[in-house]
Amino acid sequence: NVSFKQLVAWLHEFGTLVNQNKSYLTELDSAIGDADHGANMARGMTSVLNLVDADGADGVGTLFKKAGMTLVSSVGGASGPLYGTFFMKFGTSTGAADQLTPEQLAAALRAGLDGVLARGKAELGDKTMVDAMVPAVEAMEKAFGEGESLAAGTAAAAEAARQGREATIEMLARKGRASYLGERSVGHQDPGATSTAYLFEALAASVD
Ligand code: ADP
Ligand code: MG
Ligand code: MG
Repeated sequence: NVSFKQLVAWLHEFGTLVNQNKSYLTELDSAIGDADHGANMARGMTSVLNLVDADGADGVGTLFKKAGMTLVSSVGGASGPLYGTFFMKFGTSTGAADQLTPEQLAAALRAGLDGVLARGKAELGDKTMVDAMVPAVEAMEKAFGEGESLAAGTAAAAEAARQGREATIEMLARKGRASYLGERSVGHQDPGATSTAYLFEALAASVD
């Protein structure tokens, strides 16, 4: 199972990856957006981690609901409400559990993804974070459905997220600021799909 401690480690690892790649995320956003995705995510995750460290004894549901609300309130851009919704729905799905079975983890990630889809209304192929998140969650569900281990399921999700991120390069943006560019958005990797790949890489690094 995934312990509370490992879920906290996931948030820390995501924050580390976002901070280490802050300039890169901003560079990607400067090509097809407004050059703030790195700063947005770094600011948001720094706020989340301050809260997590101050409040570490909460159960999984409370932790992720608070993390999500913190992202919504500390990030102005599109990514704040979307990642915020992801974490809030994740926390609603787990309830007061103090650890998650692989099935509960997959269900919580699915709930988070459904929240992002409902809030942002992006579809697969619209060149958004959804293009990394959908394949990642599907890969994990498939792996656990076949009886694979936590390590194997989360590794499969991370790999699927990376492939989804790569696939955004050739897509024409239909949601978010990049959509204002129309055809000129083609040939650039989506910043939000890039941070979502970090989210799943961080998870894979934290569970085993
Ligand atoms: P903003 O565009 O407000 O400056 P960010 O730069 O932080 O916000 O985040 C941009 C990312 O948000 C995009 O790269 C894309 O992945 C994601 N995004 C934007 N709109 C949507 C949406 N409607 N649904 C899903 N993801 C979206
Ligand atoms: Mg931006
Ligand atoms: Mg912005």
